[in-house]
Parts: sequence; C-alpha cells; structure tokens
Amino acid sequence: MFTFKHPVDIRFGEGIISQLGEIISDLEYSRLVVVATRSQVKNGVAEFIETELGEKIKTVISDIEANPTIENVSEIAAALHAHDAHAVIAVGGGSAMDASKAAAAAYMQGVEPGSIIEHTDFTRALPVIAIPSTSGSASEVTASSIISDKSQGLKVPLIGPGLYPKVALVDPELTLTCPPKVTAISGIDVICHALDCLGSTKHNPVSDTLAIRAANLAFKNLLAAYNEPSDREARTNMSLASMMAGMAFSQTGTSGSHAMSYYLTSQYDVPHGEACAFSLDEWFKVNAKANPQLHDHAKDIGFEDAEDLARAFNGLKQNLGLGMTLSDFGINHADIPVIADESMRQANMKNNIAQLSRGEIIEMLEQKQA
Ligand SMILES: [Zn+2]
Repeated sequence: MFTFKHPVDIRFGEGIISQLGEIISDLEYSRLVVVATRSQVKNGVAEFIETELGEKIKTVISDIEANPTIENVSEIAAALHAHDAHAVIAVGGGSAMDASKAAAAAYMQGVEPGSIIEHTDFTRALPVIAIPSTSGSASEVTASSIISDKSQGLKVPLIGPGLYPKVALVDPELTLTCPPKVTAISGIDVICHALDCLGSTKHNPVSDTLAIRAANLAFKNLLAAYNEPSDREARTNMSLASMMAGMAFSQTGTSGSHAMSYYLTSQYDVPHGEACAFSLDEWFKVNAKANPQLHDHAKDIGFEDAEDLARAFNGLKQNLGLGMTLSDFGINHADIPVIADESMRQANMKNNIAQLSRGEIIEMLEQKQA
C-alpha cells in the first residue's frame, strides 16, 4: 500500500522560460517579487524576467546567501508585504528557492520571519514559481526548505505541503552557465537523492522508478556536464535527473547519506552535495545487505550489483575532484564519535532501511580516513 501525491505544475524543456509571461497571465498574477541569485542577475536572467513581465515585477531581491538565512527570509517576506504580492518568482539554485518558499509561508501565515525556524505548520504559503539554474537541490519539486540560523549555528529543514512550488519551470538552458565546481557538487547530490530514496523505509514502486532513472541519467551525464559545460544533451539529462530524484524524495524523504551530511556542512563547511556523497557508497552497500532488492536496482541503474555501483560512484567522485576522506575535509580522527552521534540524531536517519548501531557508524567513518 502506498500513496503518491505531487501537486507541482511542471514545465520542462530548453527555452521554456520564454513561456513565463503566458504562465503568469494565466494565473492572473499582477504583483510579483523576484528573488534571483547574484549569478542570475549577472548573466541576465533576472533582466529577461523583468523585460518579459514589465510592471508586474515590483522588486528584485538578489543578495541571497549560499545557505539561505533567516535574514534572507525576512527581506523577502518584507518585500512581499510591501508590495501586497500575489506570488514570488525564485530563480537560482536551492538557496533562492528555499528562501522564497520559507518567506512565502511566513508572509501567508502572518508569522514573524525571525521565528520561522520554530514554526511547524507549513500547509499554506503564497504561490512560488520556481526556476532552477542548477541541477541538484530539486527544491522546485519538493515540499522542503532548509534555512540557516547563523546566530545559533543551525540548519533547520522546514517541511510541509504548502512549500511545494505552484509551478516548476525547468529550463536546462539556464544551467549552461553553471560553473564546473557547482555542477559537480550539485550534480553528485542528484545521485545522493536518488540512492537515499532507494534506501528509505518510505520507498514505493513509483519513487523507486523515478530514483532508478534519475540515478541512471546522472551516472551517464554528470561527468560530461562537468567537463564540457556547454554539452546541451548532458545538461538536459542532468536537469531531468535532478527533477525526477526530487519528485522521488518529495515522497520518501532522504536517508543515511543526508543524515550524515548535515554536521559535516554546519561544522566543517563541506558543501551539501559533497557532504552527502562522502558516505553514500557505504550507505548503499549497507542498505543492500538489509534489502537485497537494492542489488536489482543497481543492475537497473547500469551496474552489476551494489558493490559495483559503490565503486563506480567513488570513481565518479574522484573524476569530479570531490573529497574522498575525512582528511580531505581537514577533519581529525578524534571527531569521529561526535560525527556518529550527530548523524544518529537526525530524523532522516530513522528513514534508513539499515538501522546501524553507534559502533557500526563509527566503523563506517573509520573506513573513510585517509
Ligand atoms: Zn541533498
């Protein structure tokens, strides 16, 4: 028995951003706030949106941090308020979309943005039109938003059906300008999303199908997109992979590799995708032991079994120049117990098919020393 509810109106394809004007008219929105990352301002996408929508755009906010903060959410919510906005258009990577989704909920529910991370009801939010410029976060098709509280050193996931964007406008052309390092880090996250879904206790036949196809596309196309940023076919396949993995984890949540990543990011500044990729190989093998069906999934993705997939994943990481060991991130051996404790504390660790003891998690981390 399972359910699969996905409410986002997805529009996908090269050049589809040109349909934005029509989409906004159909929805009858006339007062809009645009949230664009600096790179989307620099490369002219924000200007294109302004030209396309003219007076409907009331303001453009562009100083969103890589890990969006409560201050970012407050600034967007204030603009929504000042302009009595009908919707927010978010263009950029996960940061612009996550900040916009949180602000849309704060504004709609009359919640003080400063206390958004203590808020728990995310059933309602102002509509968000999400336009991703990277392939990775998949925030355009998920009901979550990760917001940082710098003063407390916290990264808090906000989750609820109101955080699904109204429209996901996925135009692979926007990713052509994505620099190789960002392509690598966000692209490896696509595989982490897909395999975390397969290793989630909440997986179902539809999420499995989306995750398998997403992983297959990402394994085949990520290195090409990294080596040759203008490779349109690779870029389109990565956009598709990211979106499908996002649809899958919007239903199942993430599991082991993500649970282990958060502390690596908050404590040692390891970028999100790279932090998840750090332990993904081990989690996939451990989960395949607990549920041998994962060996079949590995075959469907294009490998002999889970071990073969894990080896290929590490080869891909190496080719992308991503960190492989704790010392690559400057992390001392002495920190292993606290990393294990922090990993076990995460809600999505309980989602993981294989439930490991603290000792087993420490052993997993020991294997990741230089
Ligand atoms: Zn992720």
